[in-house]
Amino acid sequence: MGIVVAIDGPAGSGKGTITKLVAERLGLINIDTGAMYRCVTLDCLNKNINPDELEKIAEVLKNIDIQLKKEGSNQITLLNGKDVTKEIRTEIVDENVAKYAAIKEVRDKVTPIQQKMGENANIIMEGRDIGTVVFPNADVKIFLECSLEERARRRYKQNIEKGFNTPYEEILKSLIERHKLETERTIAPFVKAEDAILLDSTNLSIEEETEEVIKIIREELNKKGKSI
Ligand code: C5P
Repeated sequence: MGIVVAIDGPAGSGKGTITKLVAERLGLINIDTGAMYRCVTLDCLNKNINPDELEKIAEVLKNIDIQLKKEGSNQITLLNGKDVTKEIRTEIVDENVAKYAAIKEVRDKVTPIQQKMGENANIIMEGRDIGTVVFPNADVKIFLECSLEERARRRYKQNIEKGFNTPYEEILKSLIERHKLETERTIAPFVKAEDAILLDSTNLSIEEETEEVIKIIREELNKKGKSI
């Protein structure tokens, strides 16, 4: 088993951006678990399968192939061989992903794939249940917090950069709905692991948040007599 760093945090907490930067600086493999739930969602949406059609979802899961690859400094996501890196970040996926991610069959398929990815490598994995379910024995666990308004502001800015013109109020509403589904679901709810270190990023710049995460990782590894 290599070094495992678990980063859990809500949408818009900066975890995607920060994890990528930390991975580059510390030489860790970066794994975005949200991309996997987004792939399952996209596949179901493309096939017009609703979250309550469990038999059809089981069929999708039987045949699904999800690959996270590195292309230069970018991460690309392949769903059944097709590059869906951009498609999994669209609003329709944003709005629906938490419903599919709450399904037991979906998590039973995706979680072991994530666990396998950490078997022989030094990784930094980001998601909602990494420190609680996927790697409860991770070497370092960080739980990112950020105010709702700041998360909506960041998502609004990101969307504008991507060319989507979603009103701020709508983003706020969608973040609230997604957060409710994620924290209230019965399987692998989004909660802080007892032994995770809390980091509030509301007033931190990307650079400051990155520095802070690196500092925590070094300190925690040091306590365990490990280093990177
Ligand atoms: O991190 P991101 O916003 O891309 O994740 C997309 C969705 O996937 C989340 O809203 C959540 O419902 C689900 N997810 C999850 N468990 C993870 C990672 C993501 O349930 N470990």
